[in-house]
Amino acid sequence: MSGNSKFEAHRCPNGHLSYPGHPRCPECAEPQDETVDLTDRTAEVVTWTTSTATPPGVRQPNHIAIVEFDVDGDSVRAIGQLTTDGVEIGDEVRPIYADELRDPDAGIREKASQEWDGYRFEPVE
Ligand SMILES: [Zn+2]
Repeated sequence: MSGNSKFEAHRCPNGHLSYPGHPRCPECAEPQDETVDLTDRTAEVVTWTTSTATPPGVRQPNHIAIVEFDVDGDSVRAIGQLTTDGVEIGDEVRPIYADELRDPDAGIREKASQEWDGYRFEPVE
């Protein structure tokens, strides 16, 4: 693990979770005063898609999933890239840190396509 990027859900006093966080809970408007680190948790794939609307010359499609974390009985959803297209709805995935949200092994990919760090989801085997 490196970098400064956090992957945290925010929780209000009533236990509602949201990701990303908001100043006040979207459900009950209480201030969200707690954070829950999601990086050590696993999530379930709710749905996923492959974006083919990549710039010309970018041959690698971009796989994006909505995943749902279960945190002490409450659920929170996040959207992010998948490491592979070899997943199915209901599969268990975990967040892994990426210095840049592109595959370092994919030499055919345009290096300027994604410049930001963060987390993407990898199937749990
Ligand atoms: Zn709330």
